[in-house]
Amino acid sequence: MTDVTVRVPAKVNLQLGVGPLRADGYHDLVTVFHAVSLFDEVTAEPSDRLAVSVRGDSVDVRGVPLDGGNLAARAAVLLAGRLGVEPAVSLHIRKAIPVAGGMAGGSADAAAALVACARLWGADHEDLPKLAAELGSDVPFSLLGGTAIGLGRGEVLTPVPVRGPFHWVFACADGGLSTPAVYAECDRLREVAGRPVGRPEAARELLAALESGDARALGGALDNDLQPAAVELRPALRDTLAAGRAAGALGALVSGSGPTCAFLAESAEHAADLAAAVRAAGVAETVVRAHGPVPGATVI
Ligand code: ATP
Repeated sequence: MTDVTVRVPAKVNLQLGVGPLRADGYHDLVTVFHAVSLFDEVTAEPSDRLAVSVRGDSVDVRGVPLDGGNLAARAAVLLAGRLGVEPAVSLHIRKAIPVAGGMAGGSADAAAALVACARLWGADHEDLPKLAAELGSDVPFSLLGGTAIGLGRGEVLTPVPVRGPFHWVFACADGGLSTPAVYAECDRLREVAGRPVGRPEAARELLAALESGDARALGGALDNDLQPAAVELRPALRDTLAAGRAAGALGALVSGSGPTCAFLAESAEHAADLAAAVRAAGVAETVVRAHGPVPGATVI
C-alpha cells in the first residue's frame, strides 16, 4: 500500500453557547460548526515505526508536538489499537490552519489521520466517528464537515441545511490562546457577574439565515459566549474586531476560543476588499480568505 493523503478543513463556530460548568469539569455546549476552505493535509506513509513531521508554509508550527502527543499520532495509535495492528506509519502534516487559533487545527489533523490510516489499514469508515469522539470534542466535526449543530461537549452532531457559499476573512494573531484557559476565564467572568447561566439553545435566526443563504442576517446572528473571555485574555482582539467591523464586515466574532477573528463578507469580491482593509489596519499577523461550508476530512 502506498501513501494516503487526506485534506481536512478548519472550523469556525457560528454560534458557541456555553452552559454552566458541569461536575465533570466540562460545559454543555450548543454550537453551530461551519467548515471553511482553510485546509491542513495529512499524509500517512507505511513505515517501520510511528513518526510525525510538521511543516507550515504560512503558519508558525513551533507549538506542534512531534511525538506521541500530536493529535494525529494519538489518532493513529487509537485506531491501530482497535484494529490490533502496529501503528507503523509516518504522518506528514502540512499545516495551513493556525495553531491554537480556535479553528480546531489539532482536531482536524486527528480526523485526517483517522481517515488516512483507516484507508491504509483497511478499516471501516463507519467506526471512525466513535473513535473521533474519544480523541476530542471537535474531532467528529472535522470528519463530517459542512455545517452542523453540535451538542454535548460538541461531539453530538446534526447537519443543518445551508444555501452557501458564505465568504469569510480570518485575522490570525501572533501566538495562540489555550482553550482550557479561555473556558476558565469564561467561568471566572460569570462568577464575578453573579448572573445565573441558563442552558444554551441553537439560535433560530442563525439557522434560518443559513438555510436561506442570507449573509446579512447571518452576520447579525453570529454569537460566541467565549468571546468576552478571549478578549479579556487578549485585549488587542478588541482592535482586531473593530477593524473588521469598520471595514464593512457583515458580522465579526472570535473563532471558538480564539485568538483568530472571523469576519463575514457579502461576496467573494467583498471578502477580497475586507481582507485588504484588515491587513492595512495592521491588527493581525496574517489575514486569509476562505469560504464555507466545505466537506470534512477527504482522501485526495
Ligand atoms: P480548538 O479550536 O479545537 O479549541 P485550537 O485550534 O485552538 O483548538 P489547536 O491548533 O488544535 O488549537 O492546538 C492546540 C494545542 O494542541 C497546540 O498548542 C499543540 O500543543 C497541541 N497539538 C497537538 N497536536 C496538534 C496538531 N496536529 N496541530 C496543532 N496542534 C496540536
